[in-house]
Parts: sequence; C-alpha cells; structure tokens
Amino acid sequence: MKKIFIIFGPPGSGKGTHSARLACSYNIAHLSTGEMLRQKASDEERALMKKGILVSDNRLVELLRVRIQNSDCDNGFILDGFPRNLLQVELLDNLLKEQSLSLEAVIALEAPEDVLLSRLSGRRFCPNCSNNYHLTYDPPEQDGFCSCGFELRQRADDNSETIRARLRVFKEETIPLLDVYSLRSLPIIHVVSAGEINDVQKIIYERVQSTLLLSRFV
Ligand code: AMP
Repeated sequence: MKKIFIIFGPPGSGKGTHSARLACSYNIAHLSTGEMLRQKASDEERALMKKGILVSDNRLVELLRVRIQNSDCDNGFILDGFPRNLLQVELLDNLLKEQSLSLEAVIALEAPEDVLLSRLSGRRFCPNCSNNYHLTYDPPEQDGFCSCGFELRQRADDNSETIRARLRVFKEETIPLLDVYSLRSLPIIHVVSAGEINDVQKIIYERVQSTLLLSRFV
C-alpha cells in the first residue's frame, strides 16, 4: 500500500526539511506545492506568492494530479504545503478517491512565532539544487554558496512584510483544516519542531513508525 502523508504547519516550522528527510526514510516522493510553483509559476502567480497570498486551488490540484503519476510516487508521497484551505481538502479527497488512494496520517508541526520568524528571515536557498540553509542554524560550508557551487539566494517571500502575510493566511485559512482531519479516523501526529533538526527528525520518524505499525493491526 502506498504511504501518503500530509505535513502541516506554519511557514518556518520545518515542513520542507522534515518532508525531505521522511521521504528519504520511506523512499517516497516529497511533493512541495510551493516548490512546484517556484519552478512553474506564471508572472501572475509569482506576484501572488511574493505577497504571501494563495494561488488558484484548481491550478495546484492539476499540478499534483500530473505529479503523482511519476514513478517516484510508486511507494507513496508526502504533501508539503497542500491542502492549505477547506476547498483544497475537498479537491484532495476527490483526487485520492479517483486514484483509489488514502491518507496514512497528518503530521502537524508547531513552533513559537519568534522561532518561525528567525528561521524564515535567515533562510537561504540554492537556485540550482533547491537545497535550503540557514545563516545561523544550518550555514553552508562556504559562506554564501551551496555545496553544489551556486550562489545562495533569499526567497522573494522571506521578507518581514510577506512573512506576516503568510502567517496570517496560515492562521485564517489553514489551521481550521486540523479540525477537519481530526474528525476523521486519521492519525494526527503533533510534533513541536522548535528544537534541533536531527532531534525533531528522530521524534517525527518514531511517531510515524508507531502510527504505521498500529494502523497495520487495526
Ligand atoms: P511554500 O513554499 O509552501 O511556503 O509556498 C510558497 C507560496 O506558494 C505560498 O505563499 C503560496 O503563494 C503558494 N502556494 C504553495 N502551496 C499552495 C497551495 N496549496 N495553495 C495555494 N498557494 C500555494
């Protein structure tokens, strides 16, 4: 059976980092809708992203519909950044149903707002290989450069005004989804992700493992 997870959490909570690590542990694909958009967005969509506003729900689900046909999704996938509002929950339900797939669990990350702000403002990414760094917590070996040799950049939406907008969108549109998923018989794995990356990764992995084991016996 395919392992399908949603990772949920405010911007800066470590969704990208921990999705990538979990994807590696289970040999599943890491599907970040933000990353898909950064590669394929139209000028109009880029303008919305720069302001921290959500782009069209249908556009995202169509990108996902195509992406999950890829062979790297054969064992499953982890959805990072989708769904982000109630309509997207419905669109995802339809997409999974039509492919006879079902969710294993939702991993919900949380961290205090000061941690989120400091993570986002110090974040740098590589435009070549999409690797993420942090100026203080996860600095590159060579100042300003990725291990692949490309110069690191700051995301257009990691400025203080857009960060505030993204946190507001998360509170208003995305947090309510936890209630929706809690009402289903679906495991919700809450993890405080304020600590050191490897410690948080270990906690997530252990909690996911026990959830998978339990679900096999129910
Ligand atoms: P992220 O990389 O997940 O922080 O996403 C960056 C930006 O991409 C968001 O602020 C939105 O503008 C857009 N985006 C990513 N995922 C979605 C989604 N599921 N629905 C709408 N917009 C999205």
